[in-house]
Amino acid sequence: MKRLAVIGDPIGHSLSPLIHMTWIDTLGLDASYESIRVPAGETEAALDDFTHEGFTGLNVTLPHKQAVLAKATRTSDAVKAIGAANTLTRLSDGGWQADNTDAPGLTAALARLGLTDWAGKTILMLGAGGAARAGLFALDQAGAEIILLNRTVEKAQHILGECCARQHRSGPLDDLAEVCGQADLVINTTSAGHGGSHIRLPSGDGRLFYDMSYGAPARPQLQHAGAQGWKTEDGLAMLVCQAAESFSIWFDGKRPDIEIALAVCRAALEQDA
Ligand code: NDP
Repeated sequence: MKRLAVIGDPIGHSLSPLIHMTWIDTLGLDASYESIRVPAGETEAALDDFTHEGFTGLNVTLPHKQAVLAKATRTSDAVKAIGAANTLTRLSDGGWQADNTDAPGLTAALARLGLTDWAGKTILMLGAGGAARAGLFALDQAGAEIILLNRTVEKAQHILGECCARQHRSGPLDDLAEVCGQADLVINTTSAGHGGSHIRLPSGDGRLFYDMSYGAPARPQLQHAGAQGWKTEDGLAMLVCQAAESFSIWFDGKRPDIEIALAVCRAALEQDA
């Protein structure tokens, strides 16, 4: 039996077991997927334990996305540019391969909305943390023009240089109203909603406001965006799409059903609301 898990701290809220077990059950696969709390500072010791316990794949969430790289014996180009991994796969030589599926997860979630042709399109991205790094890598590779705004402007300049092969613009979040008119799409990667606040937006005029957050933290921001005339979408499909990329790595290229897992996750979030 294939043993899989998601590691993080906190981990109780993770939807990953629900997503992966839905696919494992639907496809009748001989595999298990659990969530395991690993406190900060214990990443490397935990990975040694997981090796001995026979785990073959791990999803990695906060606070371990960078720390796992110390144990990775093979890393994808995306991981190198983004500087973080969310998927580990045991190699036959006993090492771990590190991948970042948040990047293809975002482009797959946008493609699900019919957004695939990025040449000549301008994306305004808000926030410059870990989620932004994956988004920048993906959208730079896809050919979009990016304007990156962050509360701490130096961080925005820094991550553009690290995650993008092409030149893009950056600035303070206070520039939002000024540059918003240039954007075909706005992607919010800030964690403002987790702190109970939201980013104030100018009029959307029917454009898409895509928030990487989902569930309760996303609600005030999406309500505000809707009231300002934006079409809105939360990050739940991105979560499911990044899970599908991990699943595909672990199960020899199998593509699981996105819509089944998305419906199950939506129902779970509604029950929690
Ligand atoms: P980080 O902590 O790495 O980054 C948070 C960012 O938000 C920083 O740029 C920070 O600015 C900014 N920020 C925080 N509070 C405020 C505020 N009140 N006003 C303005 N800016 C603020 O978080 P992550 O990048 O890991 O995660 C961000 C969001 O993306 C979370 O909601 C997370 O759940 C979601 N996410 C969703 C995924 C999905 O699959 N859908 C995958 C990964 C993340 P500063 O730099 O100035 O501190």
